[in-house]
Amino acid sequence: MATLPEAKLYIDGVLRGAEGGKTFEVIGPWTGEPVGTAADASPADVEAAIVAARRAFDETDWSTNVDLRVALVTKLRDLFQANKERLSDLARHEAGAAMGAVGRAHVDMALDGWDDYLAVFPKLKWEKDYGGRTGYGFESLRKAVYEPVGVVAAITPWNVPLYVNVGKVVAALLAGCTVILKPAPNTPGMGAIFGELAAEAGFPAGVINVVFGSDPALAGEMLVTDPRVDLVSFTGSTGVGKRIMEQGAATLKRVFLELGGKSAKIVLDDSANFAMDVAQTMLVFHAGQGCAVHSRLLVPRSRYEEAKAILKHAYASFGDNWGDFDNPQHIMGPVISKRQMERVLSYVDIGQAEGATLLAGGKARPDKGGGYFIEPTCFVDVTNDMRIAQEEIFGPVLVVIPFEDDADAVRIANESSYGLSGGVSSGNLDRAINVAKQIRSGSISVNGGMCIAGDLPFGGYKASGVGREWGLEGIEEFLETKLIAWRA
Ligand code: NAD
Repeated sequence: MATLPEAKLYIDGVLRGAEGGKTFEVIGPWTGEPVGTAADASPADVEAAIVAARRAFDETDWSTNVDLRVALVTKLRDLFQANKERLSDLARHEAGAAMGAVGRAHVDMALDGWDDYLAVFPKLKWEKDYGGRTGYGFESLRKAVYEPVGVVAAITPWNVPLYVNVGKVVAALLAGCTVILKPAPNTPGMGAIFGELAAEAGFPAGVINVVFGSDPALAGEMLVTDPRVDLVSFTGSTGVGKRIMEQGAATLKRVFLELGGKSAKIVLDDSANFAMDVAQTMLVFHAGQGCAVHSRLLVPRSRYEEAKAILKHAYASFGDNWGDFDNPQHIMGPVISKRQMERVLSYVDIGQAEGATLLAGGKARPDKGGGYFIEPTCFVDVTNDMRIAQEEIFGPVLVVIPFEDDADAVRIANESSYGLSGGVSSGNLDRAINVAKQIRSGSISVNGGMCIAGDLPFGGYKASGVGREWGLEGIEEFLETKLIAWRA
């Protein structure tokens, strides 16, 4: 496995190692061996990043100079394009992306999303006229102006690191904020490249800063609790999201959270492509490590045996066609870490102990190359109250649950603490949309429609998050509303 260049911090316009020179090893999920090293930020480094971002926001024209922002964000986009191969290498080596998945879920999707942000940005309204109103014996004329919120901490996960980093950093920059990006310890390189290319693009010092370290919580907690940081935009697990909300409360932080999911795909009995709808739910793409994946498959009880047979065949056909680093057809690689592998495998035990039946997979496959490989896994005879149906596993584990009728399917889909995405398939569009409208989640795909695109707002209901990322709404998350009224 190739050794990646050392991931450097980027603070106040300087690419550098950590104060004291500490580094940590980045472990590659394909082999369980180091694929590179990264600077291990100390509290002093995080402090320096906060000071730099604060100063760049308060003392430069970044927050008011829209033309400069668009020019530099566009230039940075071009530099990312020119570095596509490196981005792809990082996604593969650090995040474990398989060759057949690296374009779609990692590099292309992120760069397309970046273009979408640039395309919707001119539609952003910086003012809203509220007209006149008479009160207290005189008339006031009123308008709102929208202003960047200030210093943003962008705290991101490892699963689709480029996509999530772009989702936050580009929107915050366009809105006029300054940013401290804090990627996960597993994927520091995908954060560090923002620093490298921002330096090359000529961003003013302090506008973008990148810090990371071996301790998953240290830098993040400093950013969340510091009064000089105005907003925390976080993507990650629901547990950490709750902690951020709690810890941010002391400084009344604006908190934006994109969290976990346990989304349901409902295949109705009149689905026009029942076999395809069922088989396509196999959770294999990027080893099931996506927040919006459909990890609960709901099928009519009247067709449950048929669905089982379809899945059995689909998993058998998928066979061993996964887990080869060099195979461009492969869409599934390892899970991110030893810890995550053990966690996913513990759910295989939990499912069996709960009485579910393993239809496919369930085992680790170290023979694939020494890394963190788990077979594509499917549980049937699952009831929605089981832990494997309620808890986010974040691995290649699908659970299949029967339902009686449309109302029962909606009930099961909604009996979840999460509400991120979902799907409905039916030969009758009105019926499918009627079901989709009753599901409490941030997006629902009907008959395979794509809900995830850079021009669409994305986010969750319930424990799946607060706020929306992407699209115009995603940029607006980084704005404050100021009301101005004057006597006519
Ligand atoms: P995680 O919550 O463990 O970590 C996410 C980030 O938070 C990392 O950068 C980590 O270092 C940092 N962090 C950890 N503890 C912290 C603390 N106490 N204070 C501040 N920051 C802290 O998540 P993960 O394991 O990296 O990613 C997987 C999770 O992310 C899954 O639950 C998945 O559903 C979720 N996710 C959600 C979306 C979405 O858009 N809804 C997208 C991708 C991933």
